[in-house]
Amino acid sequence: MVCNSNQYIKINKDQLYSLWLERVGFHLPSNAKSKKNHQHYFCDFTSTNGRKYSDVKVLLSSFSEQAFENVSEFFICEGCGKVYWEGSHLSRLKSFVSNYVDVKSTQEGNVYEVLSKNESQKQI
Ligand SMILES: [Zn+2]
Repeated sequence: MVCNSNQYIKINKDQLYSLWLERVGFHLPSNAKSKKNHQHYFCDFTSTNGRKYSDVKVLLSSFSEQAFENVSEFFICEGCGKVYWEGSHLSRLKSFVSNYVDVKSTQEGNVYEVLSKNESQKQI
């Protein structure tokens, strides 16, 4: 099933990392922390804009500890609970897309600026 949600919750690394350690990091063997693992974990946290969330489903076991290296913010899809971060799929996507279009004409970080705007609009 493809998720059609375009709503993302921005969360800082420290919060996501402590949730991850608590629920996944100490419990699952490293080969179970993979994209194929679609286990949902229901989490409470505060987004980077200060909004409190409770019982948000997050695919916490779909990524390994390496995701936390050199990344300060993560994006959780409100539809399916997938977690995204800059530098992973985004850089791969950019290099893939650059084979076909001129990516220099689009602003750096544009995708996530749009996501952040969505998030602040919801607060109003
Ligand atoms: Zn989704």
